[in-house]
Amino acid sequence: MQSAHARRLVSLLSRLPGVGEKTAQRYLLFLLTAERELSDDLGRELSFLREHLVPCARCGNIAEVVGSGPSLCDICTDNKRDSRILCIVARVHDLISIERAGSMRGRYFVLGKLLSPLEGVGPEDLPIAALVARVREEKVEEVIVATPPSVDGEATALLIKRELGGTGVAISRIASGV
Ligand code: ZN
Repeated sequence: MQSAHARRLVSLLSRLPGVGEKTAQRYLLFLLTAERELSDDLGRELSFLREHLVPCARCGNIAEVVGSGPSLCDICTDNKRDSRILCIVARVHDLISIERAGSMRGRYFVLGKLLSPLEGVGPEDLPIAALVARVREEKVEEVIVATPPSVDGEATALLIKRELGGTGVAISRIASGV
């Protein structure tokens, strides 16, 4: 029988995506025997997480809160990025894997969700107006649609192509994510 604290931690950890009770149990045992610094650092970062990290006001990536103005991520504030190229992804997760590949010179726009008639997500639920406004305001010349190669991903790519049709921007498609 485990202590109430141990049970509580296992039950919290097992609420994370992809972590079942067995894995949570393994994490607990690992943290108990690993160097103390790891659990101290984890605890500190977790307790600051919701206060200090927010979605980037421009692209939806993870940004750190600095001062009282809109919070922008490292990619949006990086002057070496080519603002004429905009890569559209479904989730931050996809942005991270494209960044890891290292060939994107432009910036990003995270949709947050995909068009999904089966799940009741329609065009009005996607941030299309914000996307069109950004393409116009930032004088984007090339849009790369990197939604997943799924039915929903393709439907979303089609919608984006249609909605950006009037802006004159060049649109290409790469499949990304799952
Ligand atoms: Zn950003």
